[in-house]
Parts: sequence; structure tokens; C-alpha cells
Amino acid sequence: MHIHPRHWGAMRTHVESHAPLEACGLLAGKNNTVEKVLPVRNQAQSPTRFLMDPAEQLAAFDWIEANDLELLAIYHSHPNGPETVSATDIEDASYPVVSIIWSGKNGAWQARGFRIEDGQATEVELRIISGE
Ligand SMILES: [Zn+2]
Repeated sequence: MHIHPRHWGAMRTHVESHAPLEACGLLAGKNNTVEKVLPVRNQAQSPTRFLMDPAEQLAAFDWIEANDLELLAIYHSHPNGPETVSATDIEDASYPVVSIIWSGKNGAWQARGFRIEDGQATEVELRIISGE
């Protein structure tokens, strides 16, 4: 998956600003390239769980469709956990898209991408592309 620096930065700013609570959102785009970051409220308001606010999630899905884009990824943060999918993340995965996990554990925020299929998580390369 290809991500522009400005989208990478927008995701990082979003998850950073909600720490120590988990934050979540969607990435939309085309041809495996992100074109839009759509933050969604974490209804769980928890440091260890996220549950997308259903109305905001639906509004984001409508926006993606209206703009002729595809849902490419769901991102969320582990403010004090690792940048890997948890057992709960695997259980809760309900869309066949990439899961991006942001970790703030080591002070500097880092993220990795995974595809979750049949209870298994496989890492997906997140490539930051140059230019705007
Ligand atoms: Zn998680």
C-alpha cells in the first residue's frame, strides 16, 4: 500500500492527539494508493479497545462511495501497546482490508500494516511515497 507523507502525518497526528485513548479511522483511495484519511470517533473511549461510532463510520463509507474511492484500510492505535495486531483485533476484524496499527509505546509513534484472514495476520508493506 502506498501512502503520501501528508496522509501518514494526518493519521499520526490523529492517534497522537487521542492518546492515552485508542483512536481509529479509515483510509480511502484507489489503485492501492491512499487519497483520504477519515478519522472516526472511538465509541469505546478506552486505552485498550476501539469501536467505531456507527453513525460516523456509515457517514465515512457514504463519503468514500460518493467520491468514487475504495476502502483500503482501517487504522487504530495502541497508545501503550505494540504495533502488531492483538488477539482482539483478529477476532474483531470484519472487513477484508488492511489493518494499520499505530503504537506509541516507545515514545515515537510507529505503524505497521497487516492483512487479517482466517484468524491469521500477515504483514503488508506500507510504503511512504515521495511528493505531495
Ligand atoms: Zn488493536
